Amino acid sequence: GPIYVSFLRDISRRKAAEEGLTEARDRALAGEKAKAEFLAVMSHEMRTPLNGLLGSIQILRDTELDDRQSGLLDTMHSSGDLLLGLVNDVLDLSKYEAGKMRPEARVFDLQQLFDSAVETTAPLAAANDNVVSVEWIGPPAGDVEGDPRKLRQILLNLLGNALKFTHGGRVDIEAEMLGRDRLEIRVIDTGIGIAEADLDRVFQDFERADSSYVRQAGGTGLGLGIARRLVGILGGEIGAESEPGEGSLFWVRVPISLAGAGTAGVPAART
Ligand code: ADP
Repeated sequence: GPIYVSFLRDISRRKAAEEGLTEARDRALAGEKAKAEFLAVMSHEMRTPLNGLLGSIQILRDTELDDRQSGLLDTMHSSGDLLLGLVNDVLDLSKYEAGKMRPEARVFDLQQLFDSAVETTAPLAAANDNVVSVEWIGPPAGDVEGDPRKLRQILLNLLGNALKFTHGGRVDIEAEMLGRDRLEIRVIDTGIGIAEADLDRVFQDFERADSSYVRQAGGTGLGLGIARRLVGILGGEIGAESEPGEGSLFWVRVPISLAGAGTAGVPAART
C-alpha cells in the first residue's frame, strides 16, 4: 500500500542523504589535508628568501646611515620579523593539520630546556624591562623522558606572551611534578591581564584580546592556538587564569616520565 511505498522512499532518501554526507565529509577532509600540505610547503619555502632579506637588512643596519635611512631599515626589519613569525606559525599549524605531528619520547634535561627557553627570550625580557625567574617545585634535576621539542615550543609561546604583555614587571616560571609522571608548568606574569570574556577565546586561532595595546604589541594570534594543539598531541591540558591589570597565569600539564633518568643523551625507545 501507499504506506509501504513511502516508507521505502524515506529510507532510500535518507540513505542517499547519508551517503552524500559521508562523501562530502571525505571530500572536505581530503581538501583540508591538501590545503594543510600546500600551506606547509609554501610557508617552508617562504622562510629561505625571508631570512635572506632579514640578514641583508641586518648588515645594512651596521653601515653608516642617516636617521631617515636607519628609520626605514628598522621598519623593514620589524615587518620582516613579523612576517617570518607568521610564516613559522602557519608552518607549525599546517604540520599539525596534515597529521604529521606525533609525540616523541626522548631523554632530555628538563632544567636545561627551561634555561634555554629563558635565554632565547632574554632580548624580549630586556626590551620590556622584565625580570624572569624559574622556580623548581618537585622535578628532580637531570634527565626526564618526554617530547622536548614540543615542550620547548609550548614554553616559548607562553613565555614570549608573558614577556610581551608585561612591562617593567616579573615573569615567574614554575615547574612542579604532579605524582611521578605528570609535569605542571606555570608561567605567571604581572602584565596587563586578560578580561574574563576574552579568556576562552585567546586559545582560538587568530584571536587576540580586543585592546589597542594588544594590537600595538604585534603578533599573529596563533601562538596559543599552536600551544593548545601541541599540548593536545602530548595528551596534556592547558588553561589560564587572569585578572585584568594584575597579571595572568598560564598553566600546562603534560605527561613526563622520570624512568629515563640517568641515561643522558641516549634517545629512549618510542612507545
Ligand atoms: P599573539 O600573542 O600573537 O597575539 P597568541 O595566540 O599567543 O597570539 O595570544 C592571543 C592573545 O591572547 C594575545 O593577542 C593577547 O590578547 C592574549 N594574551 C596571551 N598571553 C597573554 C598574557 N600573558 N597577558 C595578557 N594577554 C595575553
